[in-house]
Amino acid sequence: MRALVYHGPGQKDWEEVPDPTILKPTDAIVKVETTTICGTDLHILKGDVPAVTEGRILGHEGVGTITEIGSAVTDLAVGDRVIISCISACGKCIYCKTGVYSHCQAEEGAPGIGWIFGHLIDGTQAEYVRVPFAETSLYRVPDGVPDELAVLISDILPTGHEIGVQYGAVKPGDVVAVVGAGPVGLAAITTAGLYGPSRVIAIDLDANRVEMARSFGASDGVVASDPDWKEQVLAMTDGLGVDVSIEAVGVPTTWDMALSLVRPAGHVANVGVHGKPVEFPLDKAWIDNLTITTGLVNTDSSPMLIKLLAQGRLDVGGFVSHRYKLAEILDAYDTFGRAAETKALKVVMTA
Ligand code: NAD
Ligand code: ZN
Repeated sequence: MRALVYHGPGQKDWEEVPDPTILKPTDAIVKVETTTICGTDLHILKGDVPAVTEGRILGHEGVGTITEIGSAVTDLAVGDRVIISCISACGKCIYCKTGVYSHCQAEEGAPGIGWIFGHLIDGTQAEYVRVPFAETSLYRVPDGVPDELAVLISDILPTGHEIGVQYGAVKPGDVVAVVGAGPVGLAAITTAGLYGPSRVIAIDLDANRVEMARSFGASDGVVASDPDWKEQVLAMTDGLGVDVSIEAVGVPTTWDMALSLVRPAGHVANVGVHGKPVEFPLDKAWIDNLTITTGLVNTDSSPMLIKLLAQGRLDVGGFVSHRYKLAEILDAYDTFGRAAETKALKVVMTA
């Protein structure tokens, strides 16, 4: 088969590799029919994720059809259309039993981390992929849900929802600010709407993305390069700041921005993956009774999000900006890597 193989920082190729095979009774093989590229794949290609070694097939998002199952797989069958979750969960360890799949302790890749596709084992940017713990890591695609919407369940929708909205504890009437309106920030914006906020404010350097955020359910937008961006946000509250401030970028500036917007007793939910430490002004935060959260997505809310997707209850129509064939994946990477110019959001590739 062909796959997108990582060959060290800055190097990748779409090349011939051996077909994956069933290695454990709990595995399934999935023919990848739709996959996409995540900001995290770009981090890997920059060399920011040293755990990814040369020869690794990238990708942790995908939708496809099961072509083979291991002997222990009983409730999935060859021919089932499935969503591949970015988190692999054994379903049996102490973390899986409490829904914290991000810290699945199974000995697959490295124990203790649920994100293994395109990281510690071969991923989904390939014609076929081996899926460990198939029964607890694959979700059937409901009838009527197109692949290019189902693939949003692999990573970005649960990430924005769980680490942004649920950890941020958005509740009816809240004013929510989301710093960064990339795919993950937009996923937080669209799922925040499920909890009845009075306002959802999208903040981004890119005026185009701020504008686009409205079609995902943002009530307001602020361009981060405006000198008075902060005053604009505070003017949309009662002057005290937002109830929930979500960081969806992953750089020190946006962390500072998210902290600076929250009102006393509010929540700051960090979703961004930070490549270096940030300033954490605990000396000032304590007296504001802030709740500060962060984490790796668990995907425990995926079944609920799939139900809403099937009922058309999520504003997700605008996520896919570009479509390619799987064999054109190098062009897809190029488009995604120049998102500011190309206005790329999710770049989808199909078999
Ligand atoms: P992205 O790069 O596509 O989007 C980031 C957005 O932030 C862009 O629109 C950019 O214009 C904006 N931005 C950059 N600097 C800014 C600034 N100073 N002020 C305002 N906006 C600014 O990324 P994405 O795919 O949406 O992912 C967002 C973050 O979430 C990344 O760090 C990614 O690694 C992380 N992530 C976390 C998890 C998790 O489990 N916690 C899972 C997936 C992704
Ligand atoms: Zn991802």
